[in-house]
Amino acid sequence: MLRIVTFFTLLLSFTTSIMAADNIKVMHLTGQSNKYHSWKGTGDAINEHLTSAGIFDVDVVTSPAGGEDMSKFSPKFSDYDVIVLNYDGAEWSEKTKKAFVQYVRGGGGVVSVHGANNSFAYWSEFNEIIGLGGWGGPGLYDPPLYQGEADKQASRNEDWGPRVYWEGCGAVHDDSPGSTKHPPKHDFIITNRTPDHPIMRGLPEMWLQSHDEIYSDLRGPGKNLTILATAYADQKLKNASPHNEPMLFTVSYGKGRVFQSTLGHVGAKDDATVLAVRNVGFITTLQRGVEWAATGDVTQAIPKDFPTAYDATIR
Ligand code: ZN
Repeated sequence: MLRIVTFFTLLLSFTTSIMAADNIKVMHLTGQSNKYHSWKGTGDAINEHLTSAGIFDVDVVTSPAGGEDMSKFSPKFSDYDVIVLNYDGAEWSEKTKKAFVQYVRGGGGVVSVHGANNSFAYWSEFNEIIGLGGWGGPGLYDPPLYQGEADKQASRNEDWGPRVYWEGCGAVHDDSPGSTKHPPKHDFIITNRTPDHPIMRGLPEMWLQSHDEIYSDLRGPGKNLTILATAYADQKLKNASPHNEPMLFTVSYGKGRVFQSTLGHVGAKDDATVLAVRNVGFITTLQRGVEWAATGDVTQAIPKDFPTAYDATIR
């Protein structure tokens, strides 16, 4: 009997290790955010959503806190299929930045969630990798970044590249001046613009996202960028963009695949229970985007509780 139990234990552990070996290796990189976001709250939500997908092994890599020494922070990017960026803060060392660029150029996957695209305004390769970003000025951080560097005091604007939005049947790259902005959190419709992309395949034409920010007029090189989904703000609200703003998009950089979800605002005093990160639309597109960035395809089914254009669904 003991022998049979041992055999089954062995078989079970063998099966488990086979399954684990097949899982996608995810580095969730976090540890800093600007004064308006909580990397902890965002991070708890990301961990929960990636773990529940059942196809990811997630390692959380936490940087030193804002203002601390960053010189020894050097995550082993090459050990992972995809890096999920939930980081917005002090610059990494030159060595770490170089390793990250090499990783992406060589075919690594990257996913940027919401405020992660505020980071590294003055790192040109990073701006190429994420395609478009927002804000990033030194005063938005505590302690402020780039102290004593007079040439690094602005937030992202036309100097970083065009704003990119959807008009008619395609993307418009618009060089007119302006800085990034967003209207107050509200409920809005997300429109699927590239339904044949693996991330978007099977998702409805439109669905509702509740109580979130619409990042607008993001600026950057915007090269090799594919808009997957857009949102159009309630025009009565302050800072409402008159354009269909990209909410989900991809960038190809070298051999690397990059997915951005600008959704998922978690305020500085919020935790993972805020509505923006409980929307099933946010959760599903995050899970699918991470798989696509890692492998180039998506195997996950669309959940039965995916929202419609009339009803947002919350988990
Ligand atoms: Zn936000």
